Amino acid sequence: MPQGGVADRANQVSTLRRIGHQRFTSEVVGRLLEAAADEVAGREPDSFEASLVRVTRRDYDDMVKLPAGLVARQAREETISHPIWVEAKRLGDWALFEPRMAVTVELARQTAEALGYQDRPYDALIGLSEPGLTTARMEALFSQLKAEIVPFLGAVAERADRVDDSVLSRPCAAGPQLAFSLEVIQELGYELERGRQDLSAHPFCTAFGPGDVRLTTRTGKTLFDSCVFSSIHESGHGMYYQGVPRALDRTPLWGGASPGVHESQSRLWENLVGRSLPFWRHFMEPMRAHFGSALDGCDAEGFYRAVNRVQPSYSRVDADEVTYNLHVMLRCEIENDLLEGRLAVADVPEVWNAKLQEYLGLAPAPVANGPLQDIHWTFPSLGSFIGYTMGNLISAQLMETVRRDLPDLDARVEAGDFAALLGWLRANVHSHGRKLTPNELVERITGKPIQPGPWVAYVRRKYSELYGID
Ligand code: ZN
Repeated sequence: MPQGGVADRANQVSTLRRIGHQRFTSEVVGRLLEAAADEVAGREPDSFEASLVRVTRRDYDDMVKLPAGLVARQAREETISHPIWVEAKRLGDWALFEPRMAVTVELARQTAEALGYQDRPYDALIGLSEPGLTTARMEALFSQLKAEIVPFLGAVAERADRVDDSVLSRPCAAGPQLAFSLEVIQELGYELERGRQDLSAHPFCTAFGPGDVRLTTRTGKTLFDSCVFSSIHESGHGMYYQGVPRALDRTPLWGGASPGVHESQSRLWENLVGRSLPFWRHFMEPMRAHFGSALDGCDAEGFYRAVNRVQPSYSRVDADEVTYNLHVMLRCEIENDLLEGRLAVADVPEVWNAKLQEYLGLAPAPVANGPLQDIHWTFPSLGSFIGYTMGNLISAQLMETVRRDLPDLDARVEAGDFAALLGWLRANVHSHGRKLTPNELVERITGKPIQPGPWVAYVRRKYSELYGID
């Protein structure tokens, strides 16, 4: 779209969003939902019909609280904010984005007030994307994670020289990166008959239905530059979409349980599988076939160590497993402080840098790699970052149950057999679509609500071994 198209696009998106909202929240739909509730009374809660009415009712009850004017304005402001964010990021100029951030905070506040909440305005926003999650629960999770990870990170930093990742900075052409990443995700189970992979600046996955699930990835100038991990990550989202039953297609039950559960699938494949030693024992030789002499002198074990180097950095998307949640924590705390009026938009970079120092031990970040690095604050609703941490926690909790059900998982992965794992995820996670809330889903599978223990245990075990920590 040309620069001049922004105002036109903003008007069009805003009108469409308003019409969609008005139609969905009309009294007619309310009456139909009541009649449908009578019709499905007594059916199994898991049945298609009962789930369809329950989940649509929940969406309706949320949406009916939002005035159409607010929904239309959100769409308009998001479209206007996007190019200003791009420019502010390019120039490294927070002041340029500041008025847009103020709009984001103001609309987030209005959204929270319209939705209503018991204790804290942030409850309304995070509850919309992760039903059942509250600010108090989020803060409890974060303080547990902080207490575990910040000191552990200190122990890792003392042994930083134990892991050498120099192989990753060897130069490499884009062609082999793309060819290898496509080969990997197909082997994992991402179906090209119902999907494709293209290039974009920021990798993403989007789905138009179970038969059309698309991914993008990115390449860089060096051997790894995250192409294969971006592809694996997005294919995790893609396989989730491809795994939701056809029967749920074109209903509110299609798609994932929540952004957090979606992220559990992408992170499970990217990290718990893709950054494991059995995975690289399997893929080392196929990778060598693509990259040739760039991998000279590096074996599976060496490569496994390289792709797991812990290095506090400014960038959330490039963060290693140990530091990743600290990036999310920092953003959620800032959002909550903005929303509750303890922090002014102008002071965001300063607070950002203070937290960066406290959690990650880093010097102040240039704003382009600090508060302007993510696109999310162009969306005029705060509360979307928490899904990333929920995804990490859920992925490790699910994996504990996977390992109980598939005790030979490592041997299977090393042999290139990913079908049992994908089959398990299909049966236990994907098959439900949006029928269950994140906590209902995780509790049904693992017997426990979402909790940080399994993730902390996984990270401690893996990185203690890598860094020789007792
Ligand atoms: Zn993702």
